[in-house]
Amino acid sequence: MNAYCQEEFFSRAELIRLQEVRLRTTMARAARSPFYAEQFARAGVDLASIQGPQDIVRLPFTTKDDLRSAYPSRMLTRPVSDMVRLHASSGTTGSATVIYYTRNDIDSWADLMARCMHMVGVRAEDTFQNMSGYGLFTGGLGIHYGAERLGCLTIPAGAGNSKRQLKLLEDFQVSVIHIIPPYALHLGTVKDELGYTPDRLKLRVALIGAEPHTAAIRQRIEDVYGIKAYNSYGLSEMNGPGVAFECLEQNGMHIWEDAYLPEIVDPETGRPLPDGEIGELVITTLCREGMPLIRYRTKDLTRFLPGDCPCGRKHRRLDRIMGRADDMIIIKGVNIYPMQVEQVLMSIPEVGQNYLIVLEREGYLDQMRVKVEVKEEFFVEDMRELKNLQSRISSRLRDEILITARIDLVEQNSLPNSEGKAQRVLDLRK
Ligand code: ADP
Ligand code: ZN
Repeated sequence: MNAYCQEEFFSRAELIRLQEVRLRTTMARAARSPFYAEQFARAGVDLASIQGPQDIVRLPFTTKDDLRSAYPSRMLTRPVSDMVRLHASSGTTGSATVIYYTRNDIDSWADLMARCMHMVGVRAEDTFQNMSGYGLFTGGLGIHYGAERLGCLTIPAGAGNSKRQLKLLEDFQVSVIHIIPPYALHLGTVKDELGYTPDRLKLRVALIGAEPHTAAIRQRIEDVYGIKAYNSYGLSEMNGPGVAFECLEQNGMHIWEDAYLPEIVDPETGRPLPDGEIGELVITTLCREGMPLIRYRTKDLTRFLPGDCPCGRKHRRLDRIMGRADDMIIIKGVNIYPMQVEQVLMSIPEVGQNYLIVLEREGYLDQMRVKVEVKEEFFVEDMRELKNLQSRISSRLRDEILITARIDLVEQNSLPNSEGKAQRVLDLRK
């Protein structure tokens, strides 16, 4: 077997032994952060009683709200000066969450990502083009460091600009790409329009992820380029990409259990579910120094696939992510909560009570439209003033959610005013 590292092919017994050791280290580290010191004290956690994975159910969960309340640095186990990087989720107001990394954290993350890529046959001879957005997103630098760790010539192309992407693919004979699924399909169309015949490109492998997609979409991506596409799962709270990844079997994503302790729980009760049942993925970090997270509620719905994988790896496999246990939406790889949109809208005096976020698909690309009610006294005949309001809303939203939305201004009380819980999102993409 061609392993990237020995942990990759550990037996279950070896994995569990390693988890025991690393969980104890993680607990001791976590207790040094102001946030967990307080939380453990409140929950009456006796550190010495947490010996291994079987004890973890006695620990409290950590949620996204906890991350927000610990903003900017109450979850750190060491001074900020020991950190070498941070990433953040989108959101410039109170909703931002920040993840810090020590040098070792960056190092082990790069190794995990390199392990994923190595597993699907990526090697130092490959040229890799990363079409993920860089900046605070983890899909940029996270995968970049993994590819460099493997020794690939790595092109930080970033997102968008299809013509340039294609030129880079051809000029540097790129063999491996990282791309989000809808963009892969869109770029496929542009490729054909511009006459990039198969002989001009050397593509072989795509890493696709960052948002839910079906097996059918993967198949289409593979057909459009004549390549193999592998599902890549991660989240910033767990470093970013590199948490779980498909092997050559393309049947479920191995979650690296030497670095992450996964559980599937009932999203309502928080109780662990038997293997094979669909529930919310909860993860405890086992390697992170700067900012360990204990029983983090990912809100992602999935299940452990039963049985062993023919590839021989014993790290359990996660099924495709089937949805979310909260109202987060993902568009163009960017995570957005309807509350973020609401906060922006409600800070604009002309905006009335109701709004509706409509997600649409044009060709292969996702678009976001926001229908906004304008207060009666501001709903004027003057087109210029309305246009001005439209662009003001659009740019304020862009600042907050990083997506340019189309804004439809509508009259007060013209949007459906459902009783009870208002429907804020209409997803027409399926
Ligand atoms: P990213 O930059 O990868 O989007 P974020 O932390 O912003 O990282 O988003 C993480 C979320 O994205 C996950 O919790 C999950 O909902 C979604 N996600 C990431 N990868 C996948 C995937 N392969 N399939 C489905 N959803 C995914
Ligand atoms: Zn496998």
